Amino acid sequence: MADFEIRDLRVSVEGREILKGVTLDVDKGQVHAVMGPNGSGKSTLSQALMGHPAYEVTGGEVRFKGVNVLELAPDERARLGMYLAFQYPTVVPGITMANFLRTALNAKRGYDGKDKTKAITPKEFRALLKDSMHTLRMDDSFLSRYINDGFSGGEKKRAEILQMAVLKPEIAILDETDSGLDIDSIKYVSEAVNALRGPELGVLIITHYTRILEHVKPDFVHVLVDGRIVRSGGPEVADQLETTGYAEWGVKEEPVAAGQLSGQEEA
Ligand code: ADP
Ligand code: MG
Repeated sequence: MADFEIRDLRVSVEGREILKGVTLDVDKGQVHAVMGPNGSGKSTLSQALMGHPAYEVTGGEVRFKGVNVLELAPDERARLGMYLAFQYPTVVPGITMANFLRTALNAKRGYDGKDKTKAITPKEFRALLKDSMHTLRMDDSFLSRYINDGFSGGEKKRAEILQMAVLKPEIAILDETDSGLDIDSIKYVSEAVNALRGPELGVLIITHYTRILEHVKPDFVHVLVDGRIVRSGGPEVADQLETTGYAEWGVKEEPVAAGQLSGQEEA
């Protein structure tokens, strides 16, 4: 049994079936890439795994550490050790990054506002952020800004990875964290993900492009087309996509080798 199991997952959005039976096993310590063209259901997969209410699971199972994840609310999934870096992170005016990260971290530590011994101290908090912020090339001013407010596309994606570094999930789903990033941001993000890699973390890198996989080497690569995994294998699957694209599945002219500044994300 794998640590994280997706079995024949079917998901509908607004009554239309988008995922048509997806099966995937991820063990801690592994990095899996799920690659697919636009509209193939990549974000549907990530949102459904995290429990977004607009994505209706109509069949199949998702288990993490033996727990039926589909019965849990999104915050319970997070506490179980799941994390999703959003493709389109939300702007939250009025709440600073520091406040948000501290609150999320305290929630994970079980601090409910009462038992002060469970709350993270300012010193611990700074120490925890220091290395990741350095790797992600974020200066301290970042922490006093409102969440994603006025952030560039690259800053938003780096902020998603900073959250991941702070929360230390056991399963991290990165939904097109690379799309729309310039080459430097892709390097910083990759460096940070590589620093977090290890036996206690399973990663699902969801991407349209092969570029990030040059920096974060996947152990397994799966191709998602029209809501189904149509091929699975090792890194060679990505290499092959780089030359042939998604054409063999009837998808026209979607380059897979590019990837920086080509999405709509970079604001
Ligand atoms: P990808 O991330 O691979 O580009 P998506 O999962 O975002 O693909 O989209 C797959 C299909 O589901 C598309 O046809 C898209 O329009 C539809 N879809 C996804 N999310 C929503 C949503 N929140 N509301 C309506 N349709 C959606
Ligand atoms: Mg998407």
